[in-house]
Amino acid sequence: MIELKDVNKRYGQKDGLLAVDGVTLSIGDGAIFGIIGYSGAGKSTLIRLLNGLEKPTSGTITIAGREISSVSAKELRKVRQKVSMIFQHFNLLWSRTVKGNIAFPLEIAGVPKAERDRKVEELIDLVGLRGRENAYPSELSGGQKQRVGIARALANEPEVLLCDEATSALDPETTDQILDLLTDINQRLGLTIVMITHEMHVIRKICHQVAVMEAGRVVEIGNVLDVFQQPKAAITKRFVSQVTEPAGTEQALAHVRQEVPDGTLVKLVFIGERTEQPVLSSLIRSFQVDVNIVQGNITHTQGGAYGTLILQILGNETTVQEAIQYLHNEGVQAEVIVHD
Ligand code: ADP
Repeated sequence: MIELKDVNKRYGQKDGLLAVDGVTLSIGDGAIFGIIGYSGAGKSTLIRLLNGLEKPTSGTITIAGREISSVSAKELRKVRQKVSMIFQHFNLLWSRTVKGNIAFPLEIAGVPKAERDRKVEELIDLVGLRGRENAYPSELSGGQKQRVGIARALANEPEVLLCDEATSALDPETTDQILDLLTDINQRLGLTIVMITHEMHVIRKICHQVAVMEAGRVVEIGNVLDVFQQPKAAITKRFVSQVTEPAGTEQALAHVRQEVPDGTLVKLVFIGERTEQPVLSSLIRSFQVDVNIVQGNITHTQGGAYGTLILQILGNETTVQEAIQYLHNEGVQAEVIVHD
């Protein structure tokens, strides 16, 4: 369990910038927890607080039962052994092979050679680098480099893996492969994973919970599916729309308004099994309305499916209102975007 209570981090003197501002959150053992925010939001500072590289100006941080903000240097070293990290630019040793990179933290920890070799072999299989063990980093693709980073981070059997924009330098397909690997490791080893990112896709694909940061503060926190379903803060809505609104939604809306200027535009949100239900066909059967589908999308999160559909509903005003009420009664969230 990782717990932050009212954590502040101010750089410089009293009038310095509050990079982390009153953050309180807890991350359960075995969770994949995402922290999302734009550049400058305070994510890197938060992650440096979690690995003990920075000390909070005030507040407490507890990892594995130890309050790292107040322990001795010796104790801090012990806690830090339980926390490992992977980076956007991999931070590999260029003069060492894949094997050499993975063995490095084991050498530092004084693990005997036979045990070290055994562990390295095991990690090579775990991250899918069999056949590349004698390659140098310069001979590897970005995805393979990050696999080395992950293997190296796991060498000393940490309880927590911190991922600092770990897929931001990778193309979309490789990003997905690395995210799949992290999910697999989370399930197999029960490791807690904390990911910082500016990409909602990363949160959607693998995180169980998410905290949204803006100007040092956590402005929203919750289960990923709940946050997708009902984002509250404006910034969260923007992040959610990164993945739930397909490219071209704006144009599609403008086009339909031009072609058929009447009607009410409604955005429907379907959660879980409701994404499968034929709510729409029964709506059309039950009400004297015409419906145009403007845009539709289904997104899969760790907590289940999440679908959005933008409709244009045409009919007399009372019937349209009744139709929207019907959708609400069916448990479908329906938000009127534009009224005619
Ligand atoms: P993010 O990772 O979300 O981009 P950071 O934690 O890097 O955010 O930065 C948060 C704020 O703190 C920014 O305004 C940044 O300029 C400032 N900051 C970060 N590191 C330092 C530092 N070592 N000294 C002074 N200001 C810093």
